[in-house]
Formats: sequence, structure tokens, C-alpha cells
Amino acid sequence: MENHQKSFTGIKVIAFDADDTLWVNEPYFQETEQKFCALMEDYLPHHTVSQELFKTEMQNLSLYGYGVKGFMLCMIETILRVSENTASLQTIHKVIEYGQELLNKPIELLDGVEEVLKSLKGKYKLVVATKGDLLDQERKLNKSGLAHYFHHIEIMSDKQEKDYKKLLKHLDCQPEEFLMIGNSLKSDIMPVIALGGHGVHIPYHTTWAHEKIDHQVEDLRFHQFETIMEILPKMMI
Ligand SMILES: [Mg+2]
Repeated sequence: MENHQKSFTGIKVIAFDADDTLWVNEPYFQETEQKFCALMEDYLPHHTVSQELFKTEMQNLSLYGYGVKGFMLCMIETILRVSENTASLQTIHKVIEYGQELLNKPIELLDGVEEVLKSLKGKYKLVVATKGDLLDQERKLNKSGLAHYFHHIEIMSDKQEKDYKKLLKHLDCQPEEFLMIGNSLKSDIMPVIALGGHGVHIPYHTTWAHEKIDHQVEDLRFHQFETIMEILPKMMI
């Protein structure tokens, strides 16, 4: 119990994941995938198209990284493979439109986000640590109206231990002074805990298959809350 009470002492930097932690993201991708599957239903059943798309994404992840542009290229590649290069140019045109729509989606902040940032600003160094396309994430941050809360924005090509190590070095922060808040156990929490930092997992109602893990994290520096607002009573504010 005592450990639990003290778990948030000594924190200097609080980093927030962006997609599905600060704002809605995955449902927009899923909506696009639904449209893509419908577009391809002359070739394959819905579920199979979805599997083929995921396969293409996983094959290209190390080349394209995370984000909408890579997703667009993967949709195009999937069309060519599934249709054996017989799909019309209109079909390709459609998925370019889907991707552009995705890039122009409005920003929908998640409940409590602004209140939490307002309460923590000035007491901690606040940081955004997110994957995705550089320009897209910058645009979302600007549109969100949240940029002024943050001391630093880090758009990362990946979120593995080595990537967090680099971020901590850049921030001149010791792992035990670092708290990461995010919706993905795999990329927001586990690498940070492994480095000796603190992690707060706030599950979102839907998670991309690539981020799903069957693993329980047991650590005194790990917490799971239902909403972001639950961190406030635990912080020194
Ligand atoms: Mg996320």
C-alpha cells in the first residue's frame, strides 16, 4: 500500500502518447479499413481483405514506419496483389481519397485530457511522445489546441526501449523521473517499465492488432486507469 501511495513521487517529466490517448485515432483507421474492404469485395470477402491488408502492413512496417501515408501505400499494394494487377485506376484513386480524408479528419479530444494537462502544466515537464508521420502528427497537435501545454514534442519512428532511451537522454531525465501515459501496453508502457520508468496504461476501447499483446504487466511502477483524470489525485499538484 505504502509503495502504491508513493509511486508517483520523484517524477519530473510526464510524457503522453497522442493517438487514442489525447485524441481519437484508431476508430478513423478502422472506418477507412471498412470502406477499403467494401471496395474490394468483388475480389475477396471482407474479412480476408482485412487480413491481406494487415499482412501488407506488417511486411512494410520497417520500410514505411507508422502513419497514414504508409497505410495508403499498403492499401494500394493490397489492391494490386488481391486483384492480380487487374483493378481499375479508379480503385487506386478511391484509396488515395480515403487516405486524404483520414489526413483531414477533425481532432476529437478524449475526455478529461485538457483538464489533466491544465492541472499538470507548470508542475511537471510535459512531453508528447508519439509514432506516426511527422507532418500529420504536427498538424494534429496544432489542430488540437494542446500544443502550448507541452515543453517538447517527440515524433518517434518507433517506441522501443532504445527509442525511449534516446528521448530520456535528450530530456536529460533519469528513468525513475519519467512517467509515460498511453493506451498501448506494448509501445507506451512495457519499454518504459523495462528502462526503470513509470507507466500509466489507459486502455482505449479499440486497439490496432499490431499493438495487442497477451501479457500482464506486474510492476510497482505500473498503473492502469480507466480514464486519464484518475492520475490527478496521484500527482504532486
Ligand atoms: Mg496510442
